[in-house]
Amino acid sequence: MKILVLNAGSSSQKSCLYDLSGGLPEQPPEPLWEGSIDWSVHPDTAEIKVEANGKVVKNAIAASSKSEATTHLLNSLWQGETQVINHASEISAVGHRVVHGGAEYRDSIRVTPAVKEAIARLSTFAPVHNPVNLEGIETMETILGSDVPQVAVFDTAFHAQLPPEVYVYPGPYTWVEEGIRRYGFHGTSHRYCRDRAAHLLGRNPQDLQLITCHLGNGASLAAIRNGYSIDTTMGFTPLDGLMMGSRSGSLDPGILIYLMRNHGCTADQLDTLLNKQSGLLGISGVGGDLRQVIAAIEQGNQRAKLALEMYIHRLRSLIGSMLISLDHLDAIVFTAGIGENSPLIREAACQALHFLGVELDSVKNNSHPIDTDIATPHSSVRVLVIHTQEDWAIAQECWQIMHQSV
Ligand code: AMP
Repeated sequence: MKILVLNAGSSSQKSCLYDLSGGLPEQPPEPLWEGSIDWSVHPDTAEIKVEANGKVVKNAIAASSKSEATTHLLNSLWQGETQVINHASEISAVGHRVVHGGAEYRDSIRVTPAVKEAIARLSTFAPVHNPVNLEGIETMETILGSDVPQVAVFDTAFHAQLPPEVYVYPGPYTWVEEGIRRYGFHGTSHRYCRDRAAHLLGRNPQDLQLITCHLGNGASLAAIRNGYSIDTTMGFTPLDGLMMGSRSGSLDPGILIYLMRNHGCTADQLDTLLNKQSGLLGISGVGGDLRQVIAAIEQGNQRAKLALEMYIHRLRSLIGSMLISLDHLDAIVFTAGIGENSPLIREAACQALHFLGVELDSVKNNSHPIDTDIATPHSSVRVLVIHTQEDWAIAQECWQIMHQSV
């Protein structure tokens, strides 16, 4: 069984093909083929990169639509030096990352007309993401035909078991009835980390209590008890919670009222301000990438230093807030760009947990650990660095759904 995964974003799209003919392996396998399309340089030009058979092929094509560029990309599966299959009919299923599944989708699901209608309806909550996710599903239907099963894997689904005291905002109750509530995001990554942590610790995922820290450009934490996410830092939108690359994270909502009244800010201006001009970028002024911030600190930049200190303070305080949802802590997991690559951030986060008996092995922490425990043998809590593999997690979901339905 060959499964194609499509992770469609507004200005880029990643895809990969997994060969699961031998069943689901224990270790995440390398994909047979990986492809990406980037429209961020020029909207009418698709920069296409394909990796397969040990080769990397790049080209830029003029494409008037996403579907045209996707067709071009998929042709490389069965043509040219990156060919890995003979015909499109060898693809058994397609798994899609879909950002918002609302309150109704608690699990991944096979795409039907009703599911497509729900993804379109939920676009009011995720206007940047859900429409492109739906476009990806429709493009695949056009290219592969409607007989090839497609599976929607929702970013919100892993948080669907949040209890009401966590997901209801303390505004008027009509908000909940309208769907204004905490949903949480990065669910595929948090769930993958739960399963990988269980594998690395030789434990059952249902028996573990974890805090998973997905620290990338976007960042969120999840408190996981008995296999479920029971609290998380992102909320109604992926803007809530931690300070991020260019997103503010949580702030006093009174600031927004002030900006509207005194600066005449519109909704679109607030959106740009909070999503694109805040966070590490907004405070440091040098960039939203932690590496840029650290390089600026080394040059003596005081705003960059403040940005880093704020990032650490907010990370520590939200780890504390996740902690109180758990009875005990088996492991804290660091993942995504910053979580996987920054010993400084891992150390700063763990220092705050020293009073709980968390002890980091600094040699392991500084030796580019991946899928490894970096705590000392005496530490009361394991500290894991896990390379998140969302595409592989989507392929696994797809495989499971395909096996349920036969
Ligand atoms: P992601 O969204 O998971 O791809 O993470 C991207 C972010 O990871 C970048 O914007 C950087 O802030 C961060 N990052 C990647 N590599 C490093 C590194 N070696 N040191 C610190 N931060 C890093």
